[in-house]
Amino acid sequence: MIKILKLKPEYWRAMRQHVAALAPLEACGLLAGKGDSVEAVLRVRNAEQSPVRFRMDPQEQFNAFEWIEANGLEMIGIYHSHPSGPETASATDIAEAAYEVVHVIWSRSKRTWKARGFWIEAEEVAEVNIQIVNGQ
Ligand SMILES: [Zn+2]
Repeated sequence: MIKILKLKPEYWRAMRQHVAALAPLEACGLLAGKGDSVEAVLRVRNAEQSPVRFRMDPQEQFNAFEWIEANGLEMIGIYHSHPSGPETASATDIAEAAYEVVHVIWSRSKRTWKARGFWIEAEEVAEVNIQIVNGQ
């Protein structure tokens, strides 16, 4: 279990730009890195094209897994958006959490996007602190 996820500002912005561009549909993607540090943001198409659900396009998800492995990284997070809330994991998110990684959920109030991290395991949800770090 990870309690802190370290994110450079460029990765925070890359995710925010992605989720904002796709709203009001949910956007999703993977976070690759090592340990608790994100080193790449990989967008994946939401096969549902829905404002309230996401399911990663299987081919794009597979390609992302291949890229992560080829680059010697690990999948350490999954992000998706809740354009119309809530800012926490939904019952569906909890029920469908299939990987032991940080689940980053983007939500917005008015025009401001915010990201929160969660560790979901055995239907239990714990908050993961997202830390924006500069450089190395
Ligand atoms: Zn969700």
